[in-house]
Amino acid sequence: MRYAMAVDTRKCVGCSDCVVACQTENSVPVGYCRDWVVEVTDGTYPQLQTEIRSERCNQCGNAPCVRCCPTGSSHYADGGIVLVKPRRCIGCGACITSCPYDARYPHPDGYVDKCTFCIHLIKRGQQPSCVAVCPTRCIYFGDMDDPNSEVSRVLSHRRYKSLIPEAGTDPYLYFLL
Ligand code: SF4
Ligand code: SF4
Repeated sequence: MRYAMAVDTRKCVGCSDCVVACQTENSVPVGYCRDWVVEVTDGTYPQLQTEIRSERCNQCGNAPCVRCCPTGSSHYADGGIVLVKPRRCIGCGACITSCPYDARYPHPDGYVDKCTFCIHLIKRGQQPSCVAVCPTRCIYFGDMDDPNSEVSRVLSHRRYKSLIPEAGTDPYLYFLL
């Protein structure tokens, strides 16, 4: 079992429904977010191309945030999902500094928080909230070890990339091109 997510940059319209759904589902404090939308425009006028990406923690297989955590609060959970144990977190912020994707934030209650792929919903057989709410159905989620999962099937026939591959974190968040 290895959970992964793929976001279709051709279908994402940047509406931020995924961000609002995540904030609501996970009680993310006002002013913070576990996922966010990035818009990047490349080229020279009039040959311009815009890519819209819904980004979040990459649930890295070689996660610097887990490696640097001095208390074992940041850890690998079922399916490779990287989680934080709030009670073991001392709020030192080492993980925030080590993450190349800027995917963590300091929760006002004194621990560090981030995307969990909505593991509480997955365990009930549901999709992560961002996946379920997306009006263009541009986020694919599932088990990379299952060739019939939504994410495996879309990755089998589409071109894709991951972000900052040179960081060597082995990310499991993909962007379809
Ligand atoms: Fe850790 Fe950042 Fe990778 Fe998420 S994206 S697992 S927070 S290093
Ligand atoms: Fe670990 Fe918490 Fe420090 Fe992050 S802030 S490295 S989770 S103890």
